[in-house]
Amino acid sequence: MKTIHGVKGFHDVVPPQSERCTEIEGRLRAVLAAYNYGEIRTPIAERTELFTRSLGDATDIVEKEMYTFDDRDGTSLTLRPEGTAAVVRAALEAGLAQRDQVAKLWYLGPMFRRERPQKGRLRQFHQVGAEVIGRDDPLVDAEVVTLLMDCLGACGLDGAELVLNSLGDAACRPAYRAALAAYGRSRSELLCANCRQRLDRNPLRLLDCKEPGCRRAMAEAPLAHAYLCAPCRAHFAEVERLLQAADVPYRVEPRLVRGLDYYVRTAFEVVAGNLGAQNAVGGGGRYDGLVADLGGPPLAGVGFAIGIERLLLATATADYRTPAPEVDVIPLSIEAAPAAGRLARRLRGLGVRCELEVAGRSVKSAMRRADKLAARFAVLIGDDELRAGRATVRDMRRQADHPLALVVDDDGPALAQALRELGAAGGTHE
Ligand code: AMP
Repeated sequence: MKTIHGVKGFHDVVPPQSERCTEIEGRLRAVLAAYNYGEIRTPIAERTELFTRSLGDATDIVEKEMYTFDDRDGTSLTLRPEGTAAVVRAALEAGLAQRDQVAKLWYLGPMFRRERPQKGRLRQFHQVGAEVIGRDDPLVDAEVVTLLMDCLGACGLDGAELVLNSLGDAACRPAYRAALAAYGRSRSELLCANCRQRLDRNPLRLLDCKEPGCRRAMAEAPLAHAYLCAPCRAHFAEVERLLQAADVPYRVEPRLVRGLDYYVRTAFEVVAGNLGAQNAVGGGGRYDGLVADLGGPPLAGVGFAIGIERLLLATATADYRTPAPEVDVIPLSIEAAPAAGRLARRLRGLGVRCELEVAGRSVKSAMRRADKLAARFAVLIGDDELRAGRATVRDMRRQADHPLALVVDDDGPALAQALRELGAAGGTHE
């Protein structure tokens, strides 16, 4: 029969990559907990309107990348392309986003964008993100950026660069937008078709088009800083001062704009040197108008998202393998299988990473297998062991039978004690 393949841009995660995912997610959770953020889980499908209203009609995501379909009752639904809009919606519905209250939330889960798949760019990918709703002071911008860098650092990402910009706000951005559009129009013959279309609707995006012609055309474009109003300028200066005080290195990049329309003032991105074209590992910014746009009170917000797949790529070490089992339990006969099963279950109950072999292998083939698994100890149970009530423990590293033998049907504490003495439970494996 013909095999059924997975969907383009939708990837399976199999060992050992899944082990790395779990490891990295654990580290991220620990950092987010230390910063006292609470986890929020929102559904993967939302009403389409949530994204069209928040992300902006003229963004690539809304124009051509959303997975949108009609539910059976005719409601238009969309698989979430990002996390922030849904977190704001959910926080509003749960009463977490209110005046005089601060919501500090984080999420982790799959996102969906119908982009052209390539290295580091998938159609289903995963993001971990954090949002602070209800504070507009620069201290929170600095905390969110610091949290982002600590999350990346905890996962072993070295040498990534933090770039920072201010995009202005409702007071000063219109003038900047107009200046940028006028500049772009004056050089429209050099722009790609996409940018020509965006000239009036979303001129900020002209700054991050990768087409060489557009880059040349926009090389001398006006920059946001010249247009910032006094409050935006003061806000940005304070964010910089706080990041410097926190020893977080950054570079101001006046051409940094982000793909989503809702950002105001602070915008940031982290780029890794080893990722090629898709080099942004994470990014975020302030979105002070978004809560009100989604029907809530006029609350400020700031947040970031990290792409898990890109983080895995950027931190990949070539020789990452599934951790080896500490113990390989081997029943040497069919009769030994129940005792071996009980022993393996008790070892697993004690948190020991344990493999259980099929019954009836010869000692030689069982040893080859334990060797291949790189198990620290092989525990053999054959007829002799069954009669004696003690299993033979072979130290695979020293290639010697261990003087200590595990009692086949011993109780938990005695088994734990024996393992401790063996050094298996203490993580002495490599
Ligand atoms: P954004 O939500 O566009 O600000 O993206 C935040 C982060 O998500 C990026 O820096 C990437 O690491 C990751 N990301 C965005 N789009 C994709 C994609 N199509 N495939 C994989 N990762 C992505």
